[in-house]
Amino acid sequence: MSKHEVELPDLSRGTHDKSPRHHSDAVTNSVNGFVRGPAQPTTTGEVRRRKVDSSETSAELAAELRTRIRGEVRFDAGSRALYATDASNYRQVPIGVVIPKDINDVVETVAAACRRGAPVLARGGGTSVAGQCCNVAVVIDFSKYMHRILALDPERKRARVEPGVVLDDLRDHAEEYHLTFGPDPSTHNHCTLGGMIDNNSCGVHSVMAGKTNDNVEELEILTYDGLRMRVGETSEAELERIVHEGGRRGEIYSKLRALRDRYGNLIREGFPNIPRRVSGYNLPWLLAENGFHVARALVGSESTCVTVLGATVGLVSSPPVRSLLILGYPDVYQAGDHIPEVLAHKPIALEGMDDHLVAAMKKKRLHPENVELLPAGGGWLLVEFGGESRAEADARARALMEALKRDPNVPSMKLFDDPDEARTIWLVRRSGLGATARVPGENDTWEGWEDSAVPPEKLGGYLRDLRKLLTDHGYNCALYGHFGQGCVHTRIDFDLLTQAGIQKYRHLFIAPPTSSSATAARFPASTATANRAASCCQRCSDRS
Ligand SMILES: Cc1cc2nc3c(=O)[nH]c(=O)nc-3n(C[C@H](O)[C@H](O)[C@H](O)COP(=O)(O)OP(=O)(O)OC[C@H]3O[C@@H](n4cnc5c(N)ncnc54)[C@H](O)[C@@H]3O)c2cc1C
Repeated sequence: MSKHEVELPDLSRGTHDKSPRHHSDAVTNSVNGFVRGPAQPTTTGEVRRRKVDSSETSAELAAELRTRIRGEVRFDAGSRALYATDASNYRQVPIGVVIPKDINDVVETVAAACRRGAPVLARGGGTSVAGQCCNVAVVIDFSKYMHRILALDPERKRARVEPGVVLDDLRDHAEEYHLTFGPDPSTHNHCTLGGMIDNNSCGVHSVMAGKTNDNVEELEILTYDGLRMRVGETSEAELERIVHEGGRRGEIYSKLRALRDRYGNLIREGFPNIPRRVSGYNLPWLLAENGFHVARALVGSESTCVTVLGATVGLVSSPPVRSLLILGYPDVYQAGDHIPEVLAHKPIALEGMDDHLVAAMKKKRLHPENVELLPAGGGWLLVEFGGESRAEADARARALMEALKRDPNVPSMKLFDDPDEARTIWLVRRSGLGATARVPGENDTWEGWEDSAVPPEKLGGYLRDLRKLLTDHGYNCALYGHFGQGCVHTRIDFDLLTQAGIQKYRHLFIAPPTSSSATAARFPASTATANRAASCCQRCSDRS
């Protein structure tokens, strides 16, 4: 371990490996799952790793679960195939699937898995694009039964939910009180709060309300070795008390505190201070100045540390009236250059998209009438303002328009204050992924460089560098995303179907760098999830 690598306390003791979709050894060593067989708790809470025979143990596990839980136990080939992938490029056949009806079912499932050393993987809507949601593990699907909103307190702007609740269900309920859950991924009608928490999801309105970690107050969690606890912000006095009480809880808090004390300065220096930093464990939340917030530190841990049984989340005021201003620039790079200027006017959403996306929509005849509504340009910013009244929302938009008119390069501008028209324009942006996938007459495009994130003030330069890098290697893509937070989405036309194409991909993304400077030379600096593909899977190795 280098001095810059941080050793984490083992909260998980056997939840799936942190890079589940990549371990080729998992593919080669397993028949039916149970590859790494990590955890056997001892009386002291220590967990010994052991390798477990696959199919026999799998059958035993299924049989035991059927006697212990009320929910569904699906270890048949069809169910395992159904859950073998998510919205990513990866595929891992799970050991089996459990669909719990309540917390007790989850506790029993994890306990039974732990006894046999089988990894567990929680799952919500399964819309992850980086393979977070598929692995050789016992998959626990929260979306079917554990999706209740348990309480909503409009005074304190809080909601308590089960992890399987779909975001739109929470938002619809919260809107009755003019409140909302701020982060809103494009998958809002499918994604669950549990999945959002473990992905640290963001969305169009994260400019207004932050990421999921900014909106989580408390979590009820279950560790792999069976400890159930509520975690949240922890004062120093409370931390001291918990550690003093001892037991497994005290042990975990003590190790987290030791980690904070040992690496605090490194965490302060090393974690980039950008609005869309979602990669890696959320260690900054353990710092004293951030309240030793164990719940927020767990946000983004992708089911590698704990299983979330319930969450208390914060809600924010939902502006009742919204006006949408579209700015058209000659290209998406110039649109990117103007982000700081637009942000200064405090929009509640600031999205961007390029002409490749619009061209793809036209080719696919996807909302053609909506595309016609865009003002002239080759790159657009969608800027939403909120207010208590139409006049207030419009006034905010017009103030930005007046400021931009004083610019040497005035963009084309169109203000949509008719909610129906604004909705049709949002459809254009939200159709991004669908529009750029499988465009007739063009190469297929793939996710894998999703959510690259840079400081918003550097976005224009980053987009230029990224385009140049891809062009130099003969790749093409549309560029769009949450530009107000410096976050870019794209699907790239990697050739993953021929040997030559795969070799080229491997050379660019997978070949182990000889030094960190070699990596820097190949990839423009960002926190893109693309590097997660670095170890890919055995199938890819075999093909190349
Ligand atoms: C077209 C498209 C657009 C997208 N747009 C956005 C976007 O704008 N912003 C964005 O942030 N993301 C986006 N995503 C990614 C994804 O939709 C979101 O991150 C979403 O919030 C994931 O929710 P889910 O319920 O589908 O989670 P899942 O994919 O089911 O799970 C996500 C992670 O959470 C873990 N998990 C789930 N439940 C629990 C639990 N109870 N306990 C512990 N761990 C758990 C899973 O193991 C996994 O690691 C997009 C994806 C697609 C396909």
